[in-house]
Amino acid sequence: MAKQMAFYFDQNRCMGCHACVVACKDWNDVKPGKASWRKLSVTESGAFPDVKVFNLVLSCNHCANPACTAACPVGAIYKRKEDGIVIVDRDKCQNIRSCAVACPYGAPQFGDDKSEPVKKASWAVAHPVQKCTFCWDRLDDGLAPSCVAACPQRALDFGTVEEISAKYPTAQRTAVGMPDSTKDSNGNTLTSGDTVPSIFFKPKN
Ligand code: SF4
Ligand code: SF4
Repeated sequence: MAKQMAFYFDQNRCMGCHACVVACKDWNDVKPGKASWRKLSVTESGAFPDVKVFNLVLSCNHCANPACTAACPVGAIYKRKEDGIVIVDRDKCQNIRSCAVACPYGAPQFGDDKSEPVKKASWAVAHPVQKCTFCWDRLDDGLAPSCVAACPQRALDFGTVEEISAKYPTAQRTAVGMPDSTKDSNGNTLTSGDTVPSIFFKPKN
């Protein structure tokens, strides 16, 4: 199997502090505004006094079979052969947004005039797609992704699929709050098939 980078998330450890979300914005210079490459969602179940809260932090999952790349007609999203990281080419993006519809996880993000007041000369459109890069620039320097490094609870980890599987042999492929990997953002079955997200979990029971 080709090398594939993956995240690990321990749902029991996460306390919902948003440090990972802020660290991601800080490292990647994502200005204040609606675009956020990593997001926290909270699912509640039960009734008082037996209430349970399930935190889930997700970014792009650098899927083995990315729906975004299949959906983009101009090839602005591609998967790197060397490590499976899915990258957007902001210069190529035509703001068609089919990637955002196709992605089950809400990973593709778009800025606005406030967060991106200046259109870069290389961009074809204002506010081209942006999303998690797995901090490939930090990986190149031997550093963990910014979100993983920032988590005070050590709820996040990363590695190749093989490394994660060896380190966390009981890891699961889903957890409460995780969207269906076979459905697009509108709930329609993806014609490109199961995205097979590159993320593993220790779910909260
Ligand atoms: S999580 Fe969404 S944007 Fe990221 S690779 Fe998978 S389908 Fe593409
Ligand atoms: S930094 Fe850690 S504990 Fe805080 S929200 Fe992110 S994953 Fe959860």
